[in-house]
Amino acid sequence: MVNYKDLGLVNTREMFKRAVAGGYAIPAFNFNTMEQMQAIVMAAVETKSPVIMQVSKGARNYANGTILRNLAKGAVEYAKELGCEHPEIVLHLDHGDSFELCKECIDNGFSSVMIDGSSLPYEENVALAKKVVEYAHQFDVTVEAELGVLAGVEDEVSSAESHYTKPEEVIDFSTRTGCDSLAISIGTSHGAHKFTPEQCTLVNGVLVPPPLAFDILHEIEKKLPGFPIVLHGSSSVPMEEVNTINKYGGHLEAAIGIPEEQLREASKSAVCKINIDSDSRLAMTAAIRKHLAEHPGDFDPRQYLKPARENMKKMYIHKIVNVLGSDGKLAQC
Ligand SMILES: [Zn+2]
Repeated sequence: MVNYKDLGLVNTREMFKRAVAGGYAIPAFNFNTMEQMQAIVMAAVETKSPVIMQVSKGARNYANGTILRNLAKGAVEYAKELGCEHPEIVLHLDHGDSFELCKECIDNGFSSVMIDGSSLPYEENVALAKKVVEYAHQFDVTVEAELGVLAGVEDEVSSAESHYTKPEEVIDFSTRTGCDSLAISIGTSHGAHKFTPEQCTLVNGVLVPPPLAFDILHEIEKKLPGFPIVLHGSSSVPMEEVNTINKYGGHLEAAIGIPEEQLREASKSAVCKINIDSDSRLAMTAAIRKHLAEHPGDFDPRQYLKPARENMKKMYIHKIVNVLGSDGKLAQC
């Protein structure tokens, strides 16, 4: 048994409380590699932001859970080395799909887990989330649960259609499960191809996706005042990165994300955690493709991973400062 507190990590409770009260959101960046971890830590330290480093089931399969936990431990020490005396770093399981997986992560140093029973019938979702919460809270690990289904594809999580969260269910669900935060579905979507061009409107030559259902968000906020809300699938899929990828030999068609203005608006509400994964993948791939195209003789991974890391760091800082507003929000700097 490894307790996250021994690794210098924190759970989400205090940072969410401050984020909801302060009208900003904490970034939740997925990571699979050392370079992503370094870029996340450098960005968080430079902006003095709390940060959630999250691991999907796919990341555990790719990189191994023990290695990822030690990367998170290294992240805390690295942040201190970079001059941040009191970093607030959460190691979070993204889309846990069973009690067993959540328990394994809690027993192995995670400070927060998501149990995603959103595809189950309502009562089964309640029962599963409640079971995870009861186990997690013994160790002061916080739990995110989900109501409503997001469309899109993210690692092993995929759904053809979205089902908006029903505001009339949220009080019953949060009370009976005891969850610490709630992921909702209001029109965000997983992956880099969130919408088909047919679903979008053409504005000044740019495809703009349908707006998020802010009416549902506000109704949920009214029912659960001050309760932490989470948005998944919130990459904005910057055209600049997509164009770089396509310019240097890639082939990404109709990649469309969530406009940043809408995420900025959501951050000001009870939404206190915004998940961003695809944008980091795009930033990394764009920088690597560009570097290799311009330096065909390079074969040392450090030569192309360094600009990839720089590009991700730039993207993370941009999100923190210009979209989520979590810069300067550490409890102690
Ligand atoms: Zn998700």
